[in-house]
Amino acid sequence: MLSEKFWERKTLAQMNDLEWEALCDGCGLCCLTKLQDEETDEVVYTRVVCPYSDPKTAQCRDYANRSVNVPACVQLTRQRVAEFDWLPDTCAYRMLHRGQSLPDWHPLISKDKESLRKAGIGLLAIPVVVDTGTLDYEDYVIEHP
Ligand code: SF4
Ligand code: SF4
Repeated sequence: MLSEKFWERKTLAQMNDLEWEALCDGCGLCCLTKLQDEETDEVVYTRVVCPYSDPKTAQCRDYANRSVNVPACVQLTRQRVAEFDWLPDTCAYRMLHRGQSLPDWHPLISKDKESLRKAGIGLLAIPVVVDTGTLDYEDYVIEHP
């Protein structure tokens, strides 16, 4: 059972596992391939999505084994949240870490599983291309995920 507006009363570090997991809105944007500039460290997103992502639902098709299936799949933890600056601006972990409020379309606020889709947020709003391992990612760079 989630406590009332826990995201306003607790820091990310104070949240329990259930609360931490509930922050994820399921947008799937973190499953897009990112490119990092070797000199500036700047990260840009592409519309190429991990082959384990289901483009119909934006969910991982084998979440339990994600680190085995895709060694580069990073697990988001409270201890490392400050490192996750590459997450999209709409990601609840990034927003709370930056001191921002959750948006109205976040399912914790809207209580509506469809609110992301209605707001045009997430993987389902992007014409994604599934990674085949042979794509030139530079051809698929997007401005904002
Ligand atoms: S970008 Fe953030 S909110 Fe969206 S699926 Fe990834 S962790 Fe969850
Ligand atoms: S393994 Fe799953 S969670 Fe990890 S990037 Fe791929 S689709 Fe996303």
